Amino acid sequence: MELIDGNQIAATIVAELKQQVADLPGRKPCIALVRVGDDPASVSYVKKKEKTAAEIGMESRIILPPATITQGELEALIDQLNNDPTVDGILVQSPLPKPLDEAAAFRRLAAHKDVDGFHTLNIGKVAQEDDTGFVACTPAGIMELLARSGTDLKGKHVVVLGRSLIVGKPVALLALQKKAGANGTVTICHSGTANLAEITRQADVLIAAIGRAEFVTADMVKPGAVVIDVGINRVADPSKKTGYRLTGDVHFPTVSTLASKITPVPGGVGPMTVCMLMKNTLKARLQNGA
Ligand code: NDP
Repeated sequence: MELIDGNQIAATIVAELKQQVADLPGRKPCIALVRVGDDPASVSYVKKKEKTAAEIGMESRIILPPATITQGELEALIDQLNNDPTVDGILVQSPLPKPLDEAAAFRRLAAHKDVDGFHTLNIGKVAQEDDTGFVACTPAGIMELLARSGTDLKGKHVVVLGRSLIVGKPVALLALQKKAGANGTVTICHSGTANLAEITRQADVLIAAIGRAEFVTADMVKPGAVVIDVGINRVADPSKKTGYRLTGDVHFPTVSTLASKITPVPGGVGPMTVCMLMKNTLKARLQNGA
């Protein structure tokens, strides 16, 4: 079994981006990070994004509106960033506090600055195989992990567990694309799927993104399959200081004994998401001009 080391692959991509940014003439790429309120997970995600941008040599602009901001005020702020020629990419950190309308906020972003890839136009471009758009960061990171660990999807049966707009649907569309590295035969499973284990057992490549701790057990996996575990779940663990540990959607101890390659949690898909955001920001800067 080969462990697909997301930390190592992410570090390689960060080093590549750092070089590309250093070689870039003129203004450095700039990402605006909008975090509304003080959700603890959002605070740590935005910090990580700010730190990675600095490591690569990109500028980040942190904007911290209070949780009391109205939808109109938030959209006015987004308009301002849309119209600012020194901002290449904009990220509105999810989840937004209630009663703000997250989907409407994402739609308000100028599609050419939507480096998170959640704008309708960018999701549509993935379906159309139009590479000028931005692919959402987690699915893009999964495809990078597969490519850089030498997994070509052509001729393979790729089974995706989960159909969310953030992970399941876009990664299924990417695996399906008629291009090098992709070209998979794709099945998407969800909570309405019958005989789930029968389908997952047919997978040459199994991508689990359902948010259920250790749901995928060894009896659901074909020996030799490549297993990508997207899940990040907290399970109670009194032996930890925090009282919990992080686990994926895959039961790693048993599945890892029969998979040919597998991602760990943490240290698999997770580290890829932030570096794909930076890759998108550099792409935005190159497309937007100096
Ligand atoms: P969602 O809750 O939005 O979607 C979960 C999907 O799984 C849904 O399509 C749901 O089906 C399906 N599902 C849930 N339970 C079952 C079941 N018992 N059998 C079959 N299908 C089921 O989750 P996300 O896609 O946002 O996230 C999935 C996981 O990935 C989470 O653990 C999340 O924390 C993690 N994640 C990790 C990221 C990273 O950077 N590593 C980034 C984003 C997410 P239905 O549509 O029918 O409800």
